[in-house]
Amino acid sequence: MDLSKNVQYIKGVGEERSKVLNRLGIFTLEDLITYYPRDYEDRSKVKNLEDTIDGEETLIKATVVTKMQVISTRNRRMKICKMIVRDETDACEVVWYNQPYLKQRFQIGEEYNLFGKISKGNGHIVMNSPVFDKDGISSNTGKIIPIYPLTYKISQNQIRKIIENGLSLVQNNLEETMPEYILKEYGLLDINSAVHKIHFPETFEEFEKARYRLAFEELLIMQLLLLNLKNKAMKKESGIAFDKNIKMSDVINRLPFKLTKAQLRAIEEIDRDMESDRSMNRLLQGDVGSGKTVVAIIAAYKAVKSGYQMAIMAPTSILASQHLESFTEILEPLGIRCELLISNMPAKKKRKVLEEIANGKIDVVIGTHSILQENVQFKNLGLVITDEQHRFGVNQRKIISKKGKNVDKLVMTATPIPRTLALILYGDLDISIIDELPPNRKKIDTFAVGLSFEDRVNNFIKKQVNEGRQAYIVCPLVEENEDIDAKSVLELFEKYKTQVFSEYRVEYIHGKLKQKEKDEIMEKFKNGEIDILISTTVIEVGVNVPNATIMVIQNAERFGLAALHQLRGRVGRGEYQSYCILKYQGKSDNVRERMKVMQETNDGFVISEKDLELRGSGEFFGTKQHGIPDFKVANLFEDMEILKKVQSLAIKIINYDENLEKDENILLKKAINKKFDGNIEI
Ligand code: ADP
Ligand code: MG
Repeated sequence: MDLSKNVQYIKGVGEERSKVLNRLGIFTLEDLITYYPRDYEDRSKVKNLEDTIDGEETLIKATVVTKMQVISTRNRRMKICKMIVRDETDACEVVWYNQPYLKQRFQIGEEYNLFGKISKGNGHIVMNSPVFDKDGISSNTGKIIPIYPLTYKISQNQIRKIIENGLSLVQNNLEETMPEYILKEYGLLDINSAVHKIHFPETFEEFEKARYRLAFEELLIMQLLLLNLKNKAMKKESGIAFDKNIKMSDVINRLPFKLTKAQLRAIEEIDRDMESDRSMNRLLQGDVGSGKTVVAIIAAYKAVKSGYQMAIMAPTSILASQHLESFTEILEPLGIRCELLISNMPAKKKRKVLEEIANGKIDVVIGTHSILQENVQFKNLGLVITDEQHRFGVNQRKIISKKGKNVDKLVMTATPIPRTLALILYGDLDISIIDELPPNRKKIDTFAVGLSFEDRVNNFIKKQVNEGRQAYIVCPLVEENEDIDAKSVLELFEKYKTQVFSEYRVEYIHGKLKQKEKDEIMEKFKNGEIDILISTTVIEVGVNVPNATIMVIQNAERFGLAALHQLRGRVGRGEYQSYCILKYQGKSDNVRERMKVMQETNDGFVISEKDLELRGSGEFFGTKQHGIPDFKVANLFEDMEILKKVQSLAIKIINYDENLEKDENILLKKAINKKFDGNIEI
């Protein structure tokens, strides 16, 4: 058996079909047998016709009682085949479309297994387009049938056959990939059983066992690799030891508020990292509004006063401008010079800033991804912070670190991640968590309302504005679009400015405006010169205007929970009671469920777990962007229990055998090298 055998030469494939398989990423025998089902259909349990349920895919065992009729539709586009079958309990009409050849396949009086979707109405039962077997034969029915992720030009039946053929070549000859002692300790199936049974389980218990084993392996390999990398990084990366005589408390004492315990803890951890002579690689997690910026400012102080420059990168220029303001306010009086660097700035000014970054006159550079550009050269960069990390890829993080030598790195994110997952996503980072909001924050009241509430919502906005507050109204679109049924900024602005809110100061902002215009508008909003700001999600991250107390989100059904939570986080930042109003349309369960979650909790961790549940891990985390290799079987959300086991096992192994060189761990090393093909950069 040769696992690298070209799939073309496997029985049932051939040249044409191998091209189709190639498109699915299947090139070899090994690819084929590890092309796992995405789902299963239980075609093993026969139901009596009288017990069938409308809409359910069901297996029946029934005898043909009428000849098959083939009827052409009036325009002759379609041929409908119909026959009646019955079992002891009832009769059923069976229907196929455009398969007239089926006429030859059925005989009156014979019994067949038929599996298909039941529809029931008007007291009669219909089964649509079933798959079938003659009684006593079971190739399509009578068992659990794997369903494969397919695109086109190949049917489930075909690929199932091909995979069966592949597996019969392999038989029991796959080499074990996991050490014996692990298989034993965790009661895992051997590799041969696992691979066979994930394709063709006889029971769902068998499937579960097979899946468990394969997911366990995938997660373990991943964890071992991450821990190994992390250890190496810790040893190798000697870094800057920032000056122990520079006390962060000197800034802390000057702040207009008292830091929370959680902030102080994070600061302590960062301080320790900065003073040590290895590079800091730390993730700072904290919910929206938990006060991460000030932590960044304090770290910047330490870096600059120790003789280095620091840079902070934000995902939008609005946020960068706002950071500039916060940094300047605290650091300028301490003799630290902060400047903005964004792509959209006057050429002359930019040249000057670049020059002063290069000659070290600027201490703190605050910018967008334009900081990554090649022409940005630092004199002595020592600390790099990326804000709202989830918006940046791992590679961007790397590029900016390369602009200095062994710089300390801090990444900040408001996307809360369960700790176990953080270990996977940021396995190479240490983690600090700010799990507490500054005191006296009032809970934001959230209401999800239908379109009929338009007037009431508008009156409520007026009432708040009359009391001196400000409001955001967020829309999914910039301009009206015929194809999309959603509100746009410009459309709403027209209407509100001239009609609904004509007595108020209404403005709009979106990402396509020039930087200067955006800055001016945000500045005016901040200074209270605008009452109502109509916006796209450009204000999603980071924007901080404490006097704004209302966040209205149009077409809330179009946003993910994480985004809604971020948007809601724009209010409730000051002393006033704040409100978030989610205007939504649509009645699907998923939409309702999401609105409910938003109304019920303000806790980012709960929301992210729900989001994960409702959307699935891949989409939520953008795992591709994080550079995490795809899992074939494991699912970061559903397999949390396995993940926990695997994490403690991996730690145990790495602690005594860091490079997996002991005899009993050789297989693990082999598996890692194979999976990452020698390219283990994560
Ligand atoms: P985020 O973590 O979402 O980036 P910010 O850093 O923007 O949050 O902080 C939100 C607001 O809370 C800011 O106005 C900031 O000045 C204020 N803030 C931060 N820490 C405290 C604190 N300990 N006490 C009171 N207000 C604080
Ligand atoms: Mg922030």
